[in-house]
Amino acid sequence: MTDKFDAIVVGTGPAGISAAYMMAKAGVNVLVIERGEFPGSKNVIGGVLYIKTINDMLPGFWKEAPLERNVVQHSYCLMGRRDFSMISYRSTGSKETPNGFTVLRSKFDRWYAKKAEDAGATVIMKTNVTELLREGGKVVGVRTDRGDLKAEVTVVSEGANTMLCEKAGLITKPRPDQMALAVREIISLPADRIQERFGLSEGEGAAIHYIGSPFKGLVGFGFVYTNRDSVSVGLGATLSTMMKEKVRPYDLMESFKAEASVAPYIVNGLVKEYQAHMIPEGGYGGMPRLAADGVLVAGDSAMLSNPVTGEGADLAVLSGRLAGETVALAKKSGDFSARYLDIYRRTLSSSFVIRDMRKQAGLLHYIEENIDIIDRYPEAVNAALEEWFRVDGATRGEKIRRIEGIIISKRRPAKIVRDIYTFGRKLL
Ligand SMILES: Cc1cc2nc3c(=O)[nH]c(=O)nc-3n(C[C@H](O)[C@H](O)[C@H](O)COP(=O)(O)OP(=O)(O)OC[C@H]3O[C@@H](n4cnc5c(N)ncnc54)[C@H](O)[C@@H]3O)c2cc1C
Repeated sequence: MTDKFDAIVVGTGPAGISAAYMMAKAGVNVLVIERGEFPGSKNVIGGVLYIKTINDMLPGFWKEAPLERNVVQHSYCLMGRRDFSMISYRSTGSKETPNGFTVLRSKFDRWYAKKAEDAGATVIMKTNVTELLREGGKVVGVRTDRGDLKAEVTVVSEGANTMLCEKAGLITKPRPDQMALAVREIISLPADRIQERFGLSEGEGAAIHYIGSPFKGLVGFGFVYTNRDSVSVGLGATLSTMMKEKVRPYDLMESFKAEASVAPYIVNGLVKEYQAHMIPEGGYGGMPRLAADGVLVAGDSAMLSNPVTGEGADLAVLSGRLAGETVALAKKSGDFSARYLDIYRRTLSSSFVIRDMRKQAGLLHYIEENIDIIDRYPEAVNAALEEWFRVDGATRGEKIRRIEGIIISKRRPAKIVRDIYTFGRKLL
C-alpha cells in the first residue's frame, strides 16, 4: 500500500462508503479508514433505510443486498397515560421500486463496503484516525494510530461524534440541545411470530414511530421496527432535556417496552443486543463548514438528519455521493482548494436534504421551548377519540362540544394557532 493517495475517507458508514464508491468508479485512488473490526461493527441503525439515494447510485441494489424486510406499513402511535391511538399507512399494491427496508448495519455495511472495494477503493480496518494533518492551513492527510497517511483531499465521515471536525476547527463542539442520545435493543423472535403480530406476510415489514406521554418533558421519540427474525425497539431524546429531567435512558427504555402499545409486539422475545448512539440534532444552524482546503465533511458529521422523518442514513448516502463526485472533478482540474471543493456545499444545498434542514431550522428549539406539546397533543387526541367512541346517551353534537372543551383544556386556543402556524411554516 502506498502512503500517498488522491483521497482518504474516514469511516465506513453510509456516507464514507458512498463517497469512496463514487471516487473509485471515477478512477480516484481512494483509501477508506475504519476503526471498527469490520464495516458496520460500530454502527447503529433503528432502522429503515429509505433506498432512493442508494438506488440512484446502484440501481436495483435492493435485489441483492442483505436487507431485512420491505417496509410496507408505517404508523405513528400517539401515546397517552392510559391509552394510545395509531395512524397507519399500509401499501397493498406491489410497487416496482420499494420505499425502504429495515437493515441491520453489521450485515449491510459489510456488503456496501465490498461494493466500494470492487470498484477499486482500498478499505483498511482497525485503524483509528486521531487527527487531520495540516500544512499551511490545508488538510494534507490523516494521523492514525498506525502512522501518517497523505492525500490531496480527505472526506471526514466519522459519524455523530465529531472529534476530528472539532479538532480541525470545522465545527464547534455541539451543545446538549444539538445532540440526541438514542438507545436500541434488538429482540429475537421467530419470523412467523413477527408476521402474525404485525399482520405482515413473509418479507414484509412495519415501522412504528412513537410520541407522547412516556416522553413528557423530553424532546424525544420511540420506535419499533421489524427485522427478518428480530424486532428493533428504541428511543431517543436530546441530551439537554434528558439532563433537565434527570432521565436515565435505560430506565426510560424499560418503561417504554412495558407500554401497552409496545409490549405485545416483543413479549417472549430475547434481547440479543443493546446499543447506545448519538444522533445529530443541531439542524441547519449547527452544521459545520462543509468544505475547506483539502477537506470535505459528510453524513452525520455534517449534522445531516431529519428529525421529522427519522432519516439519517439516506442523507448520509447522498452527501457522500456528492462529496465523492466533487473530489472526482477536483482531481480532473488538479484543484483541491476550498474554493473548488465548495461545489460540494453548493450541490448539497440545492438538494432536498439541505432545503428541508433550512426550512426546519429551529423546530426542535420551538418544541423544547413549548415542551408540554410533547404529551398534551397526543393526550388531547386520545381523550377526544375516547369521547367520540363512548356511547353514553349524549348526542353527536354534544360530543363535539365536549371534544372542543377537551382540546382547549389541554392547550389554550391562541397557543394552538401559534403551534399550527409554526409547524406549517417549518414543514411546508
Ligand atoms: C438508534 C438510531 C436509530 C436510527 N434510525 C434510523 C432510521 O431508521 N433511518 C435512517 O435513515 N437513519 C437512522 N439513524 C441514523 C443513521 O444511523 C445515521 O444517520 C447514519 O448512520 C449516518 O451515517 P454516517 O456514515 O454519517 O455515520 P456512521 O454510520 O456513524 O459511520 C461513521 C463511521 O466512522 C467510523 N469512525 C468514526 N470515527 C473514526 C475515526 N476517528 N477513525 C476511524 N473510523 C472512525 C465509525 O466507526 C463508523 O463506522 C438512526 C440512528 C440511531 C442512533
